[in-house]
Amino acid sequence: MTPEKYFSVMPNYIDMTIRSELFSTNEFTFAVAVILSAQATDKKVNEVTPALFSIADTPAKMITLGEEGLKKHIKVISFFNNKAKNIIALSAKLMDEEGNNNSNYKFPEKYHSRAELMKLPGIGQKTANVITNVLWNAPNIGVDTHVFRLAHRFGWAGQEDNTPEKVEEKLIKKIPKKYHPIVNHVMVLHGRYTCKALRSKCAECPVAKWCNAPDKII
Ligand code: SF4
Repeated sequence: MTPEKYFSVMPNYIDMTIRSELFSTNEFTFAVAVILSAQATDKKVNEVTPALFSIADTPAKMITLGEEGLKKHIKVISFFNNKAKNIIALSAKLMDEEGNNNSNYKFPEKYHSRAELMKLPGIGQKTANVITNVLWNAPNIGVDTHVFRLAHRFGWAGQEDNTPEKVEEKLIKKIPKKYHPIVNHVMVLHGRYTCKALRSKCAECPVAKWCNAPDKII
């Protein structure tokens, strides 16, 4: 199945107005949710964030909550100690920037660049890809477990592409540029609900007739 065919069909079956299933109230809380979602499911993150963001939806309020207070909210999430440390460090850095006390928080414009965003505490390449892609439609391709698996399943990445960075590089080359802003969203939702790691729901898959994955279940 070519990327062109896949991306011309799949978006018709996915709600493209919802760019992420993570709960958030503004750009700051979205970044916090993405940090929390590393090695954790969106569902698990969404269990704790509504209560957390009702009291800490800006860097200033997060600092007031403090690292120990934050840990109490996120202790059911994997690596919560480290994530709490990073989120407080991120909040402290953003406190120095404009817009830090607004519940409609928006990142200063310079952070719309992935390279600048990655200079912030707790934000690695994958996190920066998701944030810039979802918030500002940047043509970055975030490679999480679903994108990684589907890229290999469809033959768009090979055995040698054994890291998210290598898969991203391959996808950037193979997928037409016009689709880059939607790649992560489409593949994540397709991978989460239909083209699953085990027992894919091939019978109800919109691209089944073009799919030549070896593990397709007919
Ligand atoms: S047919 Fe099955 S293996 Fe192929 S893309 Fe659809 S769900 Fe995945």
